[in-house]
Amino acid sequence: MKKIEIFLAVVICILSFSSCAPKDEYDEKQIFAMDTVITIKVEKGRGDDVFDGCAGIITEAERIFSRTLEDSEVTRFNTSNSEAEYDSALDDCSAPFVELIEKSLDISEKTGGAFDITIEPLVELWNITGESPEVPDVSYINNALVYVGYERMYVEDDTVYRYGMVKIDMGAIAKGYTLGMLCDYLGALGVKYANISFGGNVGLVGSKPSGGKWSVGIKDPDDTSSTVGTLTLDGGYVAVSGDYERYFEKDGTRYHHIIDPFTGYPAQTDIRSVAVVCDDASLADGLSTALFVMGYDKALAFYNAKTYDFEAVFVTDDGVYTTEGIKDSFQAK
Ligand code: AMP
Ligand code: MG
Repeated sequence: MKKIEIFLAVVICILSFSSCAPKDEYDEKQIFAMDTVITIKVEKGRGDDVFDGCAGIITEAERIFSRTLEDSEVTRFNTSNSEAEYDSALDDCSAPFVELIEKSLDISEKTGGAFDITIEPLVELWNITGESPEVPDVSYINNALVYVGYERMYVEDDTVYRYGMVKIDMGAIAKGYTLGMLCDYLGALGVKYANISFGGNVGLVGSKPSGGKWSVGIKDPDDTSSTVGTLTLDGGYVAVSGDYERYFEKDGTRYHHIIDPFTGYPAQTDIRSVAVVCDDASLADGLSTALFVMGYDKALAFYNAKTYDFEAVFVTDDGVYTTEGIKDSFQAK
């Protein structure tokens, strides 16, 4: 395991620990996929029925959305265009690929481009999770920025079109999407309760076995072994984006994995982390990334505009804030 993977595993174990009941109420399986640790806890006695199916869903999602697998659909999209070709397309795309591209473009439009899957050239340039990441030269950042812009893509039937060179990275939404698929699958099989932790996203199915509501701890960005408070929820999804998840430090500055599509640099706002609570898993994931990029004031204005139905907890430089609809469900520490 690379250092970042071990770090991630520890962080995720802590989050799942704080969001579940005693172990003997669950069958549990851990899977490492999509560059993260996935912990699936289901109703005691149901693990044998469902774990293979869950693993199959994750493998299939990775086959579609991975940026690094050679034959994934994202890689086929990214490698099938060139600068010379002004207008090109990938046809015969799978239904999940088309669905998630359409949803991503919708989130981009509604968040004014804070969320943007065409961020790939910048993700590649920064290579935050690489062996020895460096701050790129500004000229490289400016070059990469030329290729970023969700307006350069559109979808018709099962064909994804683009203008000029466009490469995509679905890392900010594919985990949430897959989590949603897993929870739907477990629900359809009549699993009474389940709790899945999936790279900063949590899915809560059914009612907590020991009664009462589910608890999800919100990590303290300055000490991820601790929390700033706890959300108490009936179910649904929580997606967290934070500056502590993947980063490197250079000359006292933290360069993390969430890039501002307008500047090309890791988003520098007053938000340290944001947790989005929502009934739609991929929307929760996409929005957590977008709100992080916006910063607190813009994120709150976006919430108040009611473009989407969600709630959020913001850990900012000034303190912890919640949106109106969730304030009674959050217990600060
Ligand atoms: P998340 O942890 O869900 O906020 O997703 C962050 C990941 O999404 C990064 O590791 C990148 O792969 C990708 N990403 C970074 N910045 C953005 C952005 N502004 N919009 C969409 N995806 C992004
Ligand atoms: Mg996200």
